[in-house]
Amino acid sequence: MTAAHNEKKVALVTGGSTGIGKATALAFAETGAKVAVVDIVEEEGKKTVDAIKEKGGQAIFIKTDVSDAGQVKDMVDKVVDTFGGLHCAFNNAGIEGEQATTADCTVENWNRVISINLSGVWYCMKYEIPHMLEAGKGSIVNMASVAGRVGFANIPAYTASKHGVNGLTKTAALEYATRNIRVNAVCPGIIDTAMIDRFTGGEGEGKEQMEAMEPVGRMGRPEEVADAVIWLCSDKASFVTGHPLAVDGGFVAR
Ligand code: NAP
Repeated sequence: MTAAHNEKKVALVTGGSTGIGKATALAFAETGAKVAVVDIVEEEGKKTVDAIKEKGGQAIFIKTDVSDAGQVKDMVDKVVDTFGGLHCAFNNAGIEGEQATTADCTVENWNRVISINLSGVWYCMKYEIPHMLEAGKGSIVNMASVAGRVGFANIPAYTASKHGVNGLTKTAALEYATRNIRVNAVCPGIIDTAMIDRFTGGEGEGKEQMEAMEPVGRMGRPEEVADAVIWLCSDKASFVTGHPLAVDGGFVAR
């Protein structure tokens, strides 16, 4: 990837304060793109922006709850007002929710997970796409998961939300295929972030079990997902749309 690759492009990354989103915001900046870091976590988000600026890049932080359609609309408008357009979007913010079987999952947990992971992705696309249509070009990558490809016991809302993201991605890809907007998803396996730490307690047996679930015998790094997103957003992926790309160390190959 050359620095000129995304020069003059504008990218927004939701969930950009930590984990995969942060790694991707930094990676976009490395390609020369102007980056909007979007998250509910302000302090960490501003650190992502500072890290980009320290390397000579351009970035802003926009505090936004992606489960609120009005906030998402204002956020996208602010990105366009600040940077003069929107070319790439990584709709990544998400939560794992509580662990419980399908019968024991609470209505509150179901609604919360779906509102952030699925409705949040839809709100982002709803307000991003008109700007991309206006520009005549755009590339969107939505965050799904291997839990959008296969079932996972005890996280029914999460699994349903990520399957939903893949369905929504394919639908939008078909709708805008002739209008120069590509829409893809990434489906990471187990990636070493705070989300996995919350599942495992951070270290020890829980973490080893997670590593053992991966055919390659280790967790992925956030930067490995970021590289896939940068490629999908670039012109190098010009014939790729509607694809749920596994970045998973072989997880769904079994
Ligand atoms: P992470 O470090 O927890 O990052 C997620 C970020 O999104 C956090 O800063 C989080 O804030 C923020 N966020 C949560 N709800 C939000 C909302 N309503 N509006 C805006 N921002 C919100 O976790 P991650 O592992 O990088 O996860 C990023 C995405 O990758 C998620 O969609 C996740 O489902 C997906 N994913 C992760 C893995 C993995 O193994 N790590 C695998 C497959 C897919 P809080 O910290 O306050 O929640």
